[in-house]
Amino acid sequence: MIRKREHWLLALVIAGGMVLCWLVFSRCTSVSLNEVLSEYVEGLTWRQVNHQVVLNHRLQSNQAKLMEPVRTDVLTVTPWLAPIVWEGTFDPLVIDEAFRSHNLTIATTVFAVGKYTRFLRDFLESAEKHFMVGLDVHYYVFTDLPGDVPSNVTLGVGRLLSIVSVPKFDRWQEISLRRMEFIQTAIEDHIHREAHYIFCLDVDMRFHGRVGSEVLGRLVAAIHPWFYMYPRSQYPYERRAVSTASVPQDQGDFYYQANIFGGVLEDVHRLTKTCRENLEVDKSVGVEAVWQEESHLNWYLVKNKPTKLLSPEYVWDDARGRDTKEIKLIRFSSVIKNKADVRENP
Ligand code: UDP
Ligand code: MN
Repeated sequence: MIRKREHWLLALVIAGGMVLCWLVFSRCTSVSLNEVLSEYVEGLTWRQVNHQVVLNHRLQSNQAKLMEPVRTDVLTVTPWLAPIVWEGTFDPLVIDEAFRSHNLTIATTVFAVGKYTRFLRDFLESAEKHFMVGLDVHYYVFTDLPGDVPSNVTLGVGRLLSIVSVPKFDRWQEISLRRMEFIQTAIEDHIHREAHYIFCLDVDMRFHGRVGSEVLGRLVAAIHPWFYMYPRSQYPYERRAVSTASVPQDQGDFYYQANIFGGVLEDVHRLTKTCRENLEVDKSVGVEAVWQEESHLNWYLVKNKPTKLLSPEYVWDDARGRDTKEIKLIRFSSVIKNKADVRENP
């Protein structure tokens, strides 16, 4: 009887020991992965991430389950089968690994004309922390004030900044409108030789979270943070038939914000060229679309569907607050600016 109890106690001790070992082991592996991940978030490039950890992650990464959708609260694919990128829909390590071996260069255009040069420092410093970390990035800063471009922002390995001179414009609308023309020309002149993808960004913005290889695609646009809950008849498209950007009430999919768009060089070139031509047709008859180049971008994307859409996580607006439950992570957002202070005209 006593021997039986001893056996039972011994079995209990062994089982307890095994559970303890398992707990310690699983904690060690997850801690080391988390440590590397947090360092990665802090700016380590892929080249510096230990290959073994990547392999470990691949073994540990969750298997996608067909009957267990990762997001049930939002649309994650369009009717033309383009993905809509939301937090939770992709695994950053898996997607980075898929793109890593291609040695991609991402051209990134940003305009800072007149007083908007004041936004450059935060824009660049936050981009170095969160934008395309581990990929080669070539920033093209279009400005009329080259001397005001901060020269002491530390760029990571494989990252470059070039200044492109543009004239000073009298009206802010003109700057906004002519971006399409300048981007088109720069792609033709040199960017087509210098990069695989191009992203065109507003400067009065800041990165707060990862914007990485998950955004790469042929033609990519981001859903405007203020209009995604409205029916299309209420989108602020240009509606006047006299403008080439006119979209009828019963057309359109999503309203995109022009603060970030991109894709492969060929597709973005076609987009900027078409918008530039349409902007000039409008100008020749004395018409300016209601939201300038954003109206033309939206018209183009009704006719030419983007192949990847970015959720409003990728183009948030600080003025909209942070308590929206579908937005799990704000990645890139417009800062609140005093328009009267930074713009040359009302
Ligand atoms: N911009 C500029 N100088 C100006 C006005 C505009 O450089 O005086 C550029 C800048 O890149 C800015 C973009 O054009 O981010 C769009 O203008 P803005 O951000 O004022 O438009 P919003 O996002 O408020 O519609
Ligand atoms: Mn802006």
